[in-house]
Amino acid sequence: MVRPTDDFITRMTVWHLQLPVLSARDHGIGRVDQNIDIAVVELQTSGGYKGYGEASPWSVFTGSVEASLGALTRYAPPYVLGRKLSDRQAILRDVNHAVAHCTEAKAALETALLDVTGIALGVSVAELLGGAVRDRIPLSCSLADPDFDADIALVERLQADQVNIVKLKTGFANHRFDIMRLEELRKRFPHLQIRVDYNQGLTPFGAEEKLRDVAEFRPDFIEQPVPARHFDMMRRLREGLSVPLLADESVFSLADMHRAIDEEICDGVSIKIMKSGGLKAAQDIAALAEAKGLAAYGGDMFETGLAHLAGTHMVAATPNITLGCEFYQAKYYLKEDILSVPFPIEDGAVVVPKTAGLGIVPNLDKIAHYAVHSVSLES
Ligand code: MG
Repeated sequence: MVRPTDDFITRMTVWHLQLPVLSARDHGIGRVDQNIDIAVVELQTSGGYKGYGEASPWSVFTGSVEASLGALTRYAPPYVLGRKLSDRQAILRDVNHAVAHCTEAKAALETALLDVTGIALGVSVAELLGGAVRDRIPLSCSLADPDFDADIALVERLQADQVNIVKLKTGFANHRFDIMRLEELRKRFPHLQIRVDYNQGLTPFGAEEKLRDVAEFRPDFIEQPVPARHFDMMRRLREGLSVPLLADESVFSLADMHRAIDEEICDGVSIKIMKSGGLKAAQDIAALAEAKGLAAYGGDMFETGLAHLAGTHMVAATPNITLGCEFYQAKYYLKEDILSVPFPIEDGAVVVPKTAGLGIVPNLDKIAHYAVHSVSLES
């Protein structure tokens, strides 16, 4: 009997896209302005099935788009083309061995493999990852505009859309600016759920005092105040804090999570498929966190709806990711997304698609429009 997963992967197409954004955004580690750079991969099988995935790098955080493109067009294809869909795990192992780092490219490849396999079998990506434990994920939107009035206008729009969680990006200007914004948000929007993310923006010296001030505003949590490597300082800050401390940049891999637990640096962790190098690896990190009683959050990079969909299926199928998600860029940050229908957000929550694969396909005309380069390889 021939099964759909006996299909061979016959073609791999990779696009480099530059997508315009609505405003500048300042984070502790850097600024995003004008455009974001991403890579999209399409896999096609001998039976004509197609699947898509996205690599969403940020050079100051996970890596560069050039590294993603190199991984996807040079190092991965020998281990992908001509292989069966049923070889998914072996393909990912071989690509992982063939090129170090490039976690965003590996996430894109796993996403595309899961998407095309799900489509061939008629099941969703969440089902391939063990099955959804939630069909809606509370949405948080980040506030990072250097023009705070623009962020106030964004919060008004969010409230009208019933999005009631925001993450204030701090540590890029000065402490007074951060406290002023917290005061204003608490005053103007008393029912808003607020989280704070420094993106490594503080130097260890003086960080304790600043976090104590911020904790007065009772945020749900404070995320990654100091540079990733300062595990000892994260532990000290956590010990002195009255609100939970989350690790983000300190934890990319399962080994990082293990060390973070060992050294007691955090109460929770931001999990991102672009850091872990895939959806399954992200689930493993969340499970390890769960074993030690740590909470987990569905983080993301500067992404389109395509990577959001991958994150959505991963979060849906991972019981321990209970702090919601931040898949807001497709709707609230990009001038135009690349999906064929809008990324599904209703009443302040992301709605998990139930149809086959990722559930929504990208619009190839939009991909062609925003592509600066593409490569197509056949077996
Ligand atoms: Mg973060």
